[in-house]
Amino acid sequence: MKRSTTKPDPLSWYARKAARAAEPLPGVEPSQERVERLRGLLEELEEAGIKGDFEHMTLYTRRLPPGCRSCVAGKGTNVYVTGLCTRDCFFCFNQKPRKDELVVHGIPVREPEEAAEIVRRYGLRSVGLSGGEPLMFPERVLRLLSALKTMRPAPLVDLYTNGDRADEALLRRLQDAGLDGIRFDAAARDYDLAPIALARRIFEDVSVEIPVIPEDRERLERLVLDLDALRVPFLNIHELFLCAENSARVVGEGQTPLEDSSRHLLWRPTAESGEAALELLLFALRRASHLSVYYCSTGTQEMIAARGLRRRRRAAAACGGLAQAPGTEPA
Ligand code: SF4
Repeated sequence: MKRSTTKPDPLSWYARKAARAAEPLPGVEPSQERVERLRGLLEELEEAGIKGDFEHMTLYTRRLPPGCRSCVAGKGTNVYVTGLCTRDCFFCFNQKPRKDELVVHGIPVREPEEAAEIVRRYGLRSVGLSGGEPLMFPERVLRLLSALKTMRPAPLVDLYTNGDRADEALLRRLQDAGLDGIRFDAAARDYDLAPIALARRIFEDVSVEIPVIPEDRERLERLVLDLDALRVPFLNIHELFLCAENSARVVGEGQTPLEDSSRHLLWRPTAESGEAALELLLFALRRASHLSVYYCSTGTQEMIAARGLRRRRRAAAACGGLAQAPGTEPA
């Protein structure tokens, strides 16, 4: 394969992982007791009818959100609309200091319209517009939507937001511009359901996507019941992650990092959050009537990163070596 001569972009997962390997963060292996509890929970989930794949821990109670289907197949990508945000969550793993930059599939760009060519080049089928808080720059988001939705075929586009700027007028403009789904990080706003209820009146595909903070167990169970009552179709959960950007604050919250055993990811779960995520799945299976809960685990993300990397290498080989160094795969 012809190698690129340009430097890897600053979000290169591999370049950053290699740099981190020189100064690994300490972590623990799961205790035997915890391994036994996890095994018991998985058996209970299987008996209760959980769907998905135990090998990669890609588990869901009813169905996968539409945008997640392409992502799990390694055909999804992320547009980092900005690094700026209206919040400062302790679990945030974005790079600090925060920077206002636009990055598509790991490639820094100047204009939103450049996103369409990158999505086409890599054969991507779903795009998550994230940040930071993308709605700090609504016109940038609308230009991205316009560029992506005039492609043929157009990819599925979801927006990730904390909800701070999600007023009705803007949500309607986003819907008119073709946004397929909207995902709220409810943990960023202390599980406030107001923007989610508002979006539910406008969009069919509304999801909540949160880290499972083990100490919030009762609030998370309440969230499952409240989202179910609101007929929100999807709740996506993942472990509480720890990486170089947030490790001091996450450890300061009393969390213990697991050992870093990932080949592809720059983050790893805390010791307690995987078990808490399985417990929440079990609760949802037993108590929710409509809501589908999807556990996008570290194992799933590892698999997605590996598939995405293979696609990226194939695309680079087909084009005789592209602008990015191989292995610069965003999640
Ligand atoms: S809302 Fe999201 S991007 Fe903003 S600080 Fe919280 S986790 Fe980070």
